[in-house]
Amino acid sequence: MKVDWLIVGAGFAGSVLAERIASQLHQKVLIVEKRNHIAGNAYDEFDEHGLLVHRYGPHIFHTNAPAIWQYLQQFTQWRSYYHQVLGVVDGQQVPIPFNINSLTALFPHYYAERLTQKLIEKYGFNVKVPILNILENTQDPDLRFLADYVYRNVFEQYTLKQWQLKPEDLAPSVTARVPIYISRDNRYFQDTYQGMPQAGYTALFQKMLENPLIKVLLNTDYREVADEIQYKRMIFTGEIDSYFSYVHGKLPYRSLNFNFIHTQQEQFQSVGTINYPNEYQYTRTTEFKLLTGQRAYGSTYIEEYPQPYVIDENIPYYPIPKEEYRALYRKYLAEAEKIKQKVLFVGRLAEYQYYNMDQVVAHALTVFNKLDV
Ligand SMILES: Cc1cc2nc3c(=O)[nH]c(=O)nc-3n(C[C@H](O)[C@H](O)[C@H](O)COP(=O)(O)OP(=O)(O)OC[C@H]3O[C@@H](n4cnc5c(N)ncnc54)[C@H](O)[C@@H]3O)c2cc1C
Repeated sequence: MKVDWLIVGAGFAGSVLAERIASQLHQKVLIVEKRNHIAGNAYDEFDEHGLLVHRYGPHIFHTNAPAIWQYLQQFTQWRSYYHQVLGVVDGQQVPIPFNINSLTALFPHYYAERLTQKLIEKYGFNVKVPILNILENTQDPDLRFLADYVYRNVFEQYTLKQWQLKPEDLAPSVTARVPIYISRDNRYFQDTYQGMPQAGYTALFQKMLENPLIKVLLNTDYREVADEIQYKRMIFTGEIDSYFSYVHGKLPYRSLNFNFIHTQQEQFQSVGTINYPNEYQYTRTTEFKLLTGQRAYGSTYIEEYPQPYVIDENIPYYPIPKEEYRALYRKYLAEAEKIKQKVLFVGRLAEYQYYNMDQVVAHALTVFNKLDV
């Protein structure tokens, strides 16, 4: 087979690039995907009860970039959806990110009032203040108590479960981000554009890949076919260390085990996701109907159990945000530089970088715009 481009992986990175190359450059693309479906980790499907579920964990689309929102409009209509997350803290379900409603629910009235007033006086209203910022820059005992409370009850145990690392062992950028949101806005995201693809993510990908210049080969590791295919250039969206046969050692990831549970109940929980920082072995539960808006009898939800990643046994989901692993990644990046005329490395696994969907789409579009063709 003869093509212009061989693309490894049919997730957002590979599919956006395939779509652009076919529709704008009118060149032939072969996507080789080792799974039995397109859409990468955004893949959704109907379960045996007829409910649309996300096989690799809940995916909610959100972006502040009009260009990304507009680009994706070509392939789907959006259902307006504002995700909400509650976290179980001291036995109560309170909004996450922790906001004024959370502290009002948890503390005695007079104390909640005092904390709110102090937060607004010091930082203003409708702002997110990282708890580390509060701990490092204020001597006020009430505000220090609050920041410490959120750190211990919302962040510390969740982080231990999620990463099997203490917060201080993660890159400071992770800990520094955890905010108190001085607001009564209970939405998890504040982005301008938020929603779910009307017919689901897989349907979005089908539309994206329908150009006749794009062929997709499923159930195939690219190594099985790379020698048989004549191609000018490759775009690789798999794990960069595997491409280079782990010459510098393995890049570690966190994986997840998903437990899908079907219930006869019309609705299982009050909002899309409930976080359990302190209870249970799972980190969170998400009920799909609340995300997709599907009307059906019964409901399906998912429990997420963080796991260590073991090559060929489970799936690498999250690059681990530690400087020593970034340093290891940079060794692979140096290898990638040497072959950049022939192979481009794009996406979450190829760049060892956590990307949200909008970020990976934006990045793939930037890579496309810079192609020297
Ligand atoms: C649990 C979870 C929840 C998430 N929730 C959200 C969310 O709510 N909102 C959001 O914006 N983002 C979310 N994300 C992030 C989102 O999944 C990523 O942004 C997106 O998947 C990145 O796309 P990608 O193409 O880089 O990688 P992927 O989707 O992983 O695609 C890479 C593809 O390459 C294939 N591949 C790898 N190696 C080979 C090989 N050797 N041969 C052939 N094929 C190969 C893989 O099978 C895979 O399909 C979430 C991620 C996780 C893990």
